Amino acid sequence: MQRLADAFARPIEYLRVSVTDKCNLRCVYCMPEGGLPWLQRDEILSYEEIARVVEAAASVGVRSIRLTGGEPLLRRHLDRLVAMIASTNGIEDIALSTNGLLLEEQIDALVAAGLTRVNISLDTLRADRFESIARRPGLDRVMRAIEVAVDRGLAPVKINCVVMRGRNDDELLDFAELSRRLPVAIRFIETMPVIEYAQAQREEYVSADELLAQLRSIGDLQPVQGPRGNGPARYFAFPGAAGTIGVITPMSHDYCNLCNRIRLTADGRLRLCLFGDHHIDLRTSLRAGATREELCEVLERSMLIKPERHHLRLGEPASRMRALSEIGG
Ligand code: SAM
Repeated sequence: MQRLADAFARPIEYLRVSVTDKCNLRCVYCMPEGGLPWLQRDEILSYEEIARVVEAAASVGVRSIRLTGGEPLLRRHLDRLVAMIASTNGIEDIALSTNGLLLEEQIDALVAAGLTRVNISLDTLRADRFESIARRPGLDRVMRAIEVAVDRGLAPVKINCVVMRGRNDDELLDFAELSRRLPVAIRFIETMPVIEYAQAQREEYVSADELLAQLRSIGDLQPVQGPRGNGPARYFAFPGAAGTIGVITPMSHDYCNLCNRIRLTADGRLRLCLFGDHHIDLRTSLRAGATREELCEVLERSMLIKPERHHLRLGEPASRMRALSEIGG
C-alpha cells in the first residue's frame, strides 16, 4: 500500500476533521464576541462526505482521526459520524476536542459508537473568570464533563489550557494541583496569533519556559513519558501525582519537523498546515462523485504543497485565518 508522506519525508498518519465552524463559547483568543460569518448548511460536508475522505485517507496510511471545530458537539448526532469512522478499515484511534459543555449528555452514545479519547478545553478554574475568558457561563458543566470522561475510562483525558498573561497565568499552581489529584494530562498551550487575537497575543503571550519555571518553584517537576497521543506536547509530573503536565509550544519551540497531520475543514478544504494558507478543495471532488482512488490521488498531490514549517511570530498572524474555529483548532 502507498503510504502518505510529504516532500520532507514526514509520514502523515493523523487527520483532524472539523465538523462545524460554530461554537457555543466566544473565547477571547479564539472568536470575536459577535461570532464570525458562519458557513451555510450546504457548504458544510455531510457525514457521508467526511466518511469518504476518512476512508481514502485510511487507505493511504492515516490511522488516527480527531473531531474538532468550532464546537463539534453542536453538530447533531455526532455519534453517527463516530460510528462511521470507527467502522473504517485502518482507523485505530478516534479522538474528540471539545469545550465540554455538551459532553456529559452525549458521552455514552459517543463511547458506544467508538470514541477512544477526549481533549477538553479549560482555561480557568474560577467561575467568574470563565465568563470573562469564554464570554459565556459554564465552568460547572466543564468540570462535570472532565469527571465523566475520567469515569468512562476515556484515557488519557487531556485538558487544554491556553495561558494568558493577566487573565489566568496566576492559576498555574491550581491547575498543577488538579494534575496531582486527577489522572488527567493538563496541557498548557502558548497563545497563537490569529488575526482576531494578534494584537492581544503580543501582550498576553507567556512562554512555556516561563510557566515551567513557575511550576518548578513549587515542587520537583520531572520529565515523564507522555500519555498516548499524536501531538507534540512535552510532559512532566510531580512525584506521586495521579496526572501529568504538558506544554505545547508553537511559538517558542516549533515542532514542525515532527508534523504528522493534515486537516479537513468543515467546508471540505484539505488544509496542510495550521498556519499558512495552503489548502486543496476536496468538496468539489466529493460532490463531483470522485472515487476513493481519485480522492487518494488528491491526497497524494496535496503532499507537494505541505510546507516545511510555519512562520509564526509574536503578534503576527501567518495566515488569513481570523480564528482557529474557522479551520478546526
Ligand atoms: N471547541 C473545541 C475546544 O474547545 O477544544 C475544539 C476547537 S478549539 C478551536 C481547539 C483548541 O484550540 C482549544 O484548546 C483552544 O483553546 C485552542 N485555541 C484556539 N485559539 C487559540 C489561540 N489563538 N492560541 C492558542 N490556542 C488556541
